[in-house]
Amino acid sequence: MLRVLHIVEGTSVDGPGLRTSIYLAGCSRHCPGCHNPASWNFQGGEERTIDELMQVIAYNEAPVTLSGGDPLQQPRGTRELIQRVKRELGYNVWCFTGYTWEEIVGDPVLLDTVRELDVLVDGPFVAAERDISLRFRGSRNQRLIDVQRTLDSGMLTLWK
Ligand code: SF4
Repeated sequence: MLRVLHIVEGTSVDGPGLRTSIYLAGCSRHCPGCHNPASWNFQGGEERTIDELMQVIAYNEAPVTLSGGDPLQQPRGTRELIQRVKRELGYNVWCFTGYTWEEIVGDPVLLDTVRELDVLVDGPFVAAERDISLRFRGSRNQRLIDVQRTLDSGMLTLWK
């Protein structure tokens, strides 16, 4: 089960190509200048089963982006959804989070959650680092991390 704020089908702003973006409810970080403060409420939106979300994703036949809120603050459902999209549909999956990669690798639950992702956009929005010229992220501290290459090599590798 995941608490979902909304789903945008066929969007091009949350990663390359036309994607199905799923916005999950809840973020405890409350960054000043956050692009979406309405997403902070963990009781926002509605409960959706993983099966329901898989049906929407399969119907759209498109890669997937998880955003929010912070998907890693619903780690159990997020992990299950990522695993099922990768294993059953084979689609590319991106995830945005306020956690840094260094925080994630130090936490077994979070690391397990992102283990099958393609790209993780890490770190909170930092207003002092804001840069509107960046693709797919709002501030310079945030990185587009190639998760599989990073895990294989043991060295943080950026997506190109
Ligand atoms: S981590 Fe993301 S969603 Fe959460 S407050 Fe910061 S910018 Fe907003």
